[in-house]
Amino acid sequence: MKYTSTRSNIEISASRAILDGLSSDGGLYVPTTLPNLSIDDCYHLTYQELAIKILSLFFDEFSSESIVDSVSKAYNFDNFNHPSITGLRKFNDNKYFLELFYGKTSAFKDQALSIYPYLLKLAMQKHDIEHLTILAATSGDTGKAAMEALSNVDGLSIAVLYPEYGTSKIQKQQMQTQVGDNVLALAIEGNFDDAQRAVKDFFLKHETLNISSANSINIARLLPQVIYYYDLFVRLDPKKKVDIYVPTGNFGNILAAYIAKSMGLPINRLIVCTNENNVLYKFFTTGIYDINEQTFKVTSSPSMDILISSNLERLLYFMFNDKDKINTWMKSLNEHKRFELSSRELKQLQEVFGTQMASDANTFKGIKDVFASSGILVDPHTATAIPQDPNNDNIQVIVSTASPYKFPTIYKDLFDLKTDDPYQILSEIELRSQEPYPDTIRILNTLDLRFKDVVAKKDVESTLLDYIKKEQSYEV
Ligand SMILES: *Cc1c(COP(=O)(O)O)cnc(C)c1O
Repeated sequence: MKYTSTRSNIEISASRAILDGLSSDGGLYVPTTLPNLSIDDCYHLTYQELAIKILSLFFDEFSSESIVDSVSKAYNFDNFNHPSITGLRKFNDNKYFLELFYGKTSAFKDQALSIYPYLLKLAMQKHDIEHLTILAATSGDTGKAAMEALSNVDGLSIAVLYPEYGTSKIQKQQMQTQVGDNVLALAIEGNFDDAQRAVKDFFLKHETLNISSANSINIARLLPQVIYYYDLFVRLDPKKKVDIYVPTGNFGNILAAYIAKSMGLPINRLIVCTNENNVLYKFFTTGIYDINEQTFKVTSSPSMDILISSNLERLLYFMFNDKDKINTWMKSLNEHKRFELSSRELKQLQEVFGTQMASDANTFKGIKDVFASSGILVDPHTATAIPQDPNNDNIQVIVSTASPYKFPTIYKDLFDLKTDDPYQILSEIELRSQEPYPDTIRILNTLDLRFKDVVAKKDVESTLLDYIKKEQSYEV
């Protein structure tokens, strides 16, 4: 399996694509062709066996023994607190929750990031790289999941940058208490965009260093997400059409579902679910992607607060298979902050994708209604994906992306509590709901705060350089 860019005709190996992250032409790496996999060949497989089958298709450059080894280190019961790795919970007659939050950091990022270090190490071996430092800007979930996955892994180190005031209290504490000799969490003065820009600038300026990125532009993060969609169909064995509702930010999770569909998984429709940062909702409704008038809103689902949705470029490539067009659209996005599909292209998109948008008020009402009717307590990201069309008779699967224990603030009003202390709210969640309180969150308050530094934007570069020098000379 070779990989190419969405913007040019280069062809490279999987290992090169994993190490580079982003193509130097500005495009994203995609497989040159998508493999086929019939669900009929999967019905008898466990999650781990499915993982081996699917990863072997995309990463045939790595030996089967090394893939088997990586899967057993990633998808096991040290890393996931669920006998099936993911949960599948019936909500009512035709609705289910696909719960992807049983990993160590209680959000769906663990599904891909738990295997990411092993894929990275296989790629490093192919290119004789002894030590690689991973840099990531995060609004909370990616940074913690990546640090947890890389903690004390030989040959790897990681630094994450998060906005001092841009995460939930639990998310911040999760990062500040992370153990491991090879991890660093840095708060930066500014918002998530400032953190993202600082990391991007650093990559551009220091291309010759052994550094790489851990966000969902990397194929080693995107492709392992295909596994849980196949696993969903193995477990559901549906007799009716299945529509999947996905809370969407950077378009990675829903793109993995689209890739699965393209490989032959009989998904009917995919619903792009957004919060009030609704650029994608407007795009799938009108065919116009426009961020000129759009102001960044802070919502109750912060991991979906995003205006530039990177992985959309990959969807446009898979859907329209025309690199000239991608270049035109991305140039327009860069220069005019907008691009527009033709009405024929929009129609093609809408044959597969539906969309819906939830305000914070909708989100709150969704949580309340689901809890009242089923006793299931969903998190605010998941709540944006509660189906809004009452006339849909298909099976509807709602992708649950985080545990409610990670974003407690919203339940204060739901349970009519007087306290603002997140840990008191968490105890109330445990008392009133059936959702398991993750041990990793329960013990957070007893752990040392290891990382308390806040750096000014101007000092980010020197701080990262010092860190990389220390980590990489330590190894050699
Ligand atoms: C990252 C994240 C999302 C958005 O996923 P994308 O793949 O970026 O679309 C949704 N919910 C939660 C809890 C997340 O952490």
